[in-house]
Amino acid sequence: MIHIGAHVSVAKGWEAMGKTTLDLGGDTFAFFLRSPRGGAAKPVVPEDAAALRAILKEHDFGTIVAHAPYTMNLCAVKEYVVEHAEDVFQGDLQNLEDYLPGQYLNFHPGSHVGQGAEAAIPRIADALNRLMDPGQSTTILLETMAGKGSEVGRSFEELRAILDLVKPDLQDRMGVCLDTCHVWDAGYDLSDLDSVLDEFDAVLGLERLKAIHLNDSKNPCGAQKDRHEKLGKGYIGEERLKAVATHPKLQGLPFILETPNELPGYKQEIETIKSWLV
Ligand code: FE
Ligand code: FE
Ligand code: ZN
Repeated sequence: MIHIGAHVSVAKGWEAMGKTTLDLGGDTFAFFLRSPRGGAAKPVVPEDAAALRAILKEHDFGTIVAHAPYTMNLCAVKEYVVEHAEDVFQGDLQNLEDYLPGQYLNFHPGSHVGQGAEAAIPRIADALNRLMDPGQSTTILLETMAGKGSEVGRSFEELRAILDLVKPDLQDRMGVCLDTCHVWDAGYDLSDLDSVLDEFDAVLGLERLKAIHLNDSKNPCGAQKDRHEKLGKGYIGEERLKAVATHPKLQGLPFILETPNELPGYKQEIETIKSWLV
């Protein structure tokens, strides 16, 4: 069995995200703690967060996969961009520690903006080493990226290189989130899922895989575009996505939909995934 949910809005508060997820038929979700563009975080209302935690417990939710803002670039060239990114990372992590402990905080490793991945990777790891705490309850996830622009994390090897530079006492607080649209766009052909997972295992270790973003892609394998599509409506297609959701090695993980949908569309996709699982 897998846990399923969608990326939901925090606009109506934390408890509302739990209720929305129950309405969708899900048992996990993803959310931005602040605007995806990285503005100020709305202060968390302690009672609202407690109400969400009660829902998670009562309904046996899988681990929640919070998402850091897209604009958070820990390896930017401009110093003020890095400083802002570090503030954002620290703030989002602290809110999770205070109000939703023991979950995942997923982030896009960064954009090297011309420095090259080799120069950017040590800077990302250095930021993690300074901003993380060995005692934290949150696990930080590096997301596999499509390779659009100067994105870092376009290959399992690039994620490995970041992990290799993270301090030993932080290693058990680090994981990876595999986005099906991104790996497809990066050139990993999901037609042979076993080979892709074997490669993941050889390079990163399958035990590092903590969450799946289940998305179809508007583009063919290797396109490096990162344009998500509804399940079964894109180039990855229903059969390959079904193979991911039903793969024995991926059972137990939270699967998050980031498809271009409103809530009714998500509800339908969650039903579809459940129909694959029986
Ligand atoms: Fe993402
Ligand atoms: Fe994603
Ligand atoms: Zn994407």
